[in-house]
Amino acid sequence: PFSPRVEHGADPSVTVLAGPTAVGKGTVSRFIRENFPQVWLSVSATTRHPRPGEVEGEHYFFTSPDEFDELVARDQMLEWAVVHGENRYGTRRDTVAAAVEQGRKVLLEIDLQGARQVREAMPDARFVFLAPPSWDELVDRLIGRGTESVEEQRRRLETARLELAAEPEFDAVVVNDTVKQAARELVRIMGLDPDSVE
Ligand code: 5GP
Repeated sequence: PFSPRVEHGADPSVTVLAGPTAVGKGTVSRFIRENFPQVWLSVSATTRHPRPGEVEGEHYFFTSPDEFDELVARDQMLEWAVVHGENRYGTRRDTVAAAVEQGRKVLLEIDLQGARQVREAMPDARFVFLAPPSWDELVDRLIGRGTESVEEQRRRLETARLELAAEPEFDAVVVNDTVKQAARELVRIMGLDPDSVE
């Protein structure tokens, strides 16, 4: 059973899923979106360009740098960060607040810098670290994905190495052995029954 650390993790309405690049956060959250309608998966704004198959409003809100500046200037971001030294990604306050208001269980899939900002803003949220089965497995996944240049892969591995050290900051660790098992564990940590679908 999940026992949150004393200082945070008490409020199960907002859960933050973070972890190193290429660990499979995107795959786990996609599995959750498709299989656990009890969970409301937050859609981030990003200045990155869409990859093939990515849908506006489903995977991200693809936002121009000017629009992103505007959201930040108006204090509409719960958190935001430059990820991999390149693009900006952020979570809007109003969409998260509205989902919480409606009694939804909210899941944020964000990077470590963002997770730290949410912890400042919402100390009661639950923080879950998605860990790879091993370092070699993480390298294989990053290279196997084939979506980044060699230079970009090198940069992301460097980030991943630093990010792995943050594990002790989290309330719970889920090892991503298989997507299904990791998603079920995460759902359970969120206080939901993975076997019951609304
Ligand atoms: P990708 O470009 O592969 O979709 O995502 C790159 C990284 O951005 C991932 O580590 C992902 O967790 C992170 N990310 C996605 N959305 C957000 C967000 O709203 N805020 C923050 N801080 N990071 C995000």
